[in-house]
Amino acid sequence: MHDDLPEDLDDLQLIQEYLDRQITRALAQHDRPGLHEELPANRRQVVVVGTFLREQAKRVRQRAHYIETGEEPWRAEPAPGWILQFFAKPDNRPSRSTLHRSDCPFGKGKTLTVAEAIVAMRDVPEVDECPQCRPYEELRRRSADLPPAPPLPG
Ligand SMILES: [Zn+2]
Repeated sequence: MHDDLPEDLDDLQLIQEYLDRQITRALAQHDRPGLHEELPANRRQVVVVGTFLREQAKRVRQRAHYIETGEEPWRAEPAPGWILQFFAKPDNRPSRSTLHRSDCPFGKGKTLTVAEAIVAMRDVPEVDECPQCRPYEELRRRSADLPPAPPLPG
């Protein structure tokens, strides 16, 4: 993710300080357009440059954190929610339901907690996982109670 940046912490510190100075200059330029010749006098353009500099500074801080700790907490995914979608069947045939991750574009229905979603997948034979968003593996990571995913039909 940050492989273009140096591994040496002193080098990273150097870049960080350089970027911090540039960000300070961009902020000052925004307050007083024309103050620094090398920066655009247009406020909107200063914001564009300042945003870019801040993004770079963030990457440098992340790189330093990774070199120091081996951890990349900013990579943590947002916890997905779960949606149970019911399909009513005519006659007396049993209805089927599909479990989705809440970020699935096809997921419409009742919102479930992770515990409810696990029970639905584990204990309710009428519940299938959505083939699009595949919530099963994500649920398994959260519960040792779920057996490995069954192979996809076909
Ligand atoms: Zn889905």
